[in-house]
Amino acid sequence: MSKRLNLKERYKHMTRLGWETTYQSMDDVFPYDTYEGIKVKDWDAWEDPFRMTMDSYWKYQGEKEKKLYAIIDAFAQNNGHTNLSDGRYLNALKLFLQGVTPLEYQAHRGFAHNGRHMRGEGARVACQMQSLDELRHAQTQIHTISHYNKHFNGFHEFPHWHDRVWYLSVPKSFFDDARTAGPFEFMIAVGFSFEYVLTNLLFVPFMSGAAFNGDLSTVTFGFSAQSDEARHMTLGLEAMKFMLEQHEDNVPIVQRWIDKWTWRGYKVLSLIAAMQDYMLPESPMSWKEAWEVYFEENGGALFNDLARYGIRPPKYLEVCAAEKDHLSHQVWGVLYNYAAPAAMHTWIPDDRKLDWLSEKYPDTFDKYYRPRFLHWREMEKQGKRFYNGSLPMLCQLCQIPMAFTEMDDFTQTCFRTSEYKDDKYHFCSDGCKDIFDYEPEKYVQAWLPVHQIYQGNCGGPTLDDVLKWYQFNVGSDNFDYVGSEDEARWNDLQGKGEKPADKSAA
Ligand code: FE
Ligand code: ZN
Repeated sequence: MSKRLNLKERYKHMTRLGWETTYQSMDDVFPYDTYEGIKVKDWDAWEDPFRMTMDSYWKYQGEKEKKLYAIIDAFAQNNGHTNLSDGRYLNALKLFLQGVTPLEYQAHRGFAHNGRHMRGEGARVACQMQSLDELRHAQTQIHTISHYNKHFNGFHEFPHWHDRVWYLSVPKSFFDDARTAGPFEFMIAVGFSFEYVLTNLLFVPFMSGAAFNGDLSTVTFGFSAQSDEARHMTLGLEAMKFMLEQHEDNVPIVQRWIDKWTWRGYKVLSLIAAMQDYMLPESPMSWKEAWEVYFEENGGALFNDLARYGIRPPKYLEVCAAEKDHLSHQVWGVLYNYAAPAAMHTWIPDDRKLDWLSEKYPDTFDKYYRPRFLHWREMEKQGKRFYNGSLPMLCQLCQIPMAFTEMDDFTQTCFRTSEYKDDKYHFCSDGCKDIFDYEPEKYVQAWLPVHQIYQGNCGGPTLDDVLKWYQFNVGSDNFDYVGSEDEARWNDLQGKGEKPADKSAA
């Protein structure tokens, strides 16, 4: 007697392949999914809303790959890079490849770990698929951007840089923290805060920025990843609702993770804020506008929905709201200062860009930031382009230099301290201090690039020693955009300027 299975039953038979172990106890087989204190009564309540089987997954992803690589090939053959809006745009791509692509790989590793260590089969299958997606994202980004590496500087050693260079320790430490947490915290950190709350602020402005600046290859990998993101966001949200529905004792744990990971994600986004307002020659929207649309409006609706579980919006949103008029300008100031130990170029915006910034930030830009940029521009004209020769104090938690000001006094650097076992630790904000104070044993171990340089662990005592240890091509990868090899190459492509040095000779 054969009976046709309906879709739901079929899905169940194809994905629920686990069993209750008998030779070994389930707790020995799955040692990590209880110690965080999350109580689960019924793992079967974890459902994949997409009901995707492995079989359909491979077919679907394979189709997407074919389309993506056809476009990337065409882009390379037609020298698509010559159609960019301006050579400065390349630096947004460098920051993405150095800072974000390695996070895709970290997400791949993290979800693979979760796909082994959660005892519910629905959760395991969903994590396994996301693990594969994230590996694909890392690969497609590397393949797409490798085209630019043939023509420009600052792309060549990105995995090496990710593990060492100071501004890249900001995104790296986010994922190191997530992957060394338990499996449920990882789901909130990456599946919820990063994918659901923050991805929109990274991917959407970056992709529309790519479109505005003529970078069709990046737009294509962005779209190809974005269709996976819909699944990831749903998984993150489902995982969180699952925890909240399984036991009321889970609510305060989840709330603390939401507070922590929203703040950590927000700090990583400060780099994106600077990229969006300063590195994109043509800007679709300002950082402030993106924050208002994607976080305040969309995030606000989400937290209204979560109120029924007893979840309130994340802590310190009022700080984010106050900072949105300042964040990108303060971060660009830091990147401009420290353009020597950076594998990308920075510059003083031209007048058209300064006016755009004044228009987008009417309350703050002309008052606080334009005069600073004009001062630096004046120094540059006199042949004294400002490169900060000192090393900044880093926040022990988010690893960003202490570059932010108090929101009620823009002349005061904002910093906080904590004492732990007779040592003093410094933080950029109350949000970072809170996270440290809850788990100091974890964060005293942080690998802070500046401290490591001072301790002599980064190649030697001079800047040249450190840049050599970073594997920078000094004078090619770093310093101001003006006068750089990239600028000369770009001008040559546009038919203006001297013939630049060939990339292969560098
Ligand atoms: Fe991804
Ligand atoms: Zn911090």
